[in-house]
This record gives sequence, C-alpha cells and structure tokens, in this order.
Amino acid sequence: MNQKSEQKKKEKIDKSSNSQNVFMVDKVLKTKDEWRVQLTDEQFEICINKGTEPPFSGKYHNSKEKGIYKCVCCGEPLFKSDTKFDSGSGWPSFWEPISDEKIEYVSDTSFGMIRTEVNCMKCGAHLGHVFDDGPKPTSLRYCINSISLDLDKTD
Ligand SMILES: [Zn+2]
Repeated sequence: MNQKSEQKKKEKIDKSSNSQNVFMVDKVLKTKDEWRVQLTDEQFEICINKGTEPPFSGKYHNSKEKGIYKCVCCGEPLFKSDTKFDSGSGWPSFWEPISDEKIEYVSDTSFGMIRTEVNCMKCGAHLGHVFDDGPKPTSLRYCINSISLDLDKTD
C-alpha cells in the first residue's frame, strides 16, 4: 500500500474527527424514523443503514453528464463531474470531493477489511468508501453509491 496516501487518509480521518464540533451548527440531524419518511427504501438502506448498491446497477456509474453531485439526503454539494473518472468498478468514482470539509471520514473495519468510509458531513448519510488507488493528482478513489447522489446538471 502506498504509504504517502495512507498517511494522507489518516490525516483526513483525524481532521474530520477533530473538527466535528466546528461544523456542528450546519448539521442536519434527523432520526431514523424521520429519514424513513423522507427517503425511498433503497435510499434508506444505502444512506442510513450503510448498505452498498450492486455494481453497475446505479444510474451514475457510467454518467458523463456535467454538473454537481449533491447528497440525496440533504442536498449538500459533494462532488463535481469534472473530478469523476471511469474506474471500471461499477460505482461512480471521483478523485476529489468539492471540499474535504463536506466529507466525514470514518475508519471502517467491517467485513474483515480496513477501509475508510465516507459520509456526508452535513447530514451523516453514508456515501461509500475512499481508496488510495485513484488517478492523479490525488491518487484517491472516492467510490460512491449512485443512490447516495443526486446530479444537478449544468450545461
Ligand atoms: Zn447529506
């Protein structure tokens, strides 16, 4: 594993756990019951129960349309289409979020793997994971569920 990007990821995790209070004021805090009313069953399963959609099933994995990908739960802008790339994984993949402050990084050791989970900083919705095998300039691959995203198209 690439040590430098591993270090970078660790810094991100430390940063987001240290800075939680700073962004507290902007947070959307809803109970599971409230989310259940707002979201479809599919959205609830991915975003709130931290599920993963089957690869190549989502509407954005192959999308080349221009625009801003927003959090499907709270509408916060998270990724730009300019930073989307074809990873071949079957999930929409980005090499950079709009801002690191939009993303909450959490160490995820489920399924016997060490991964970094990425959530929406504003509402806590699960988005996907970040890996260190992405393209330049960041070498990061944000592997995101289509269901967690809502593309706001621009011309
Ligand atoms: Zn959100």
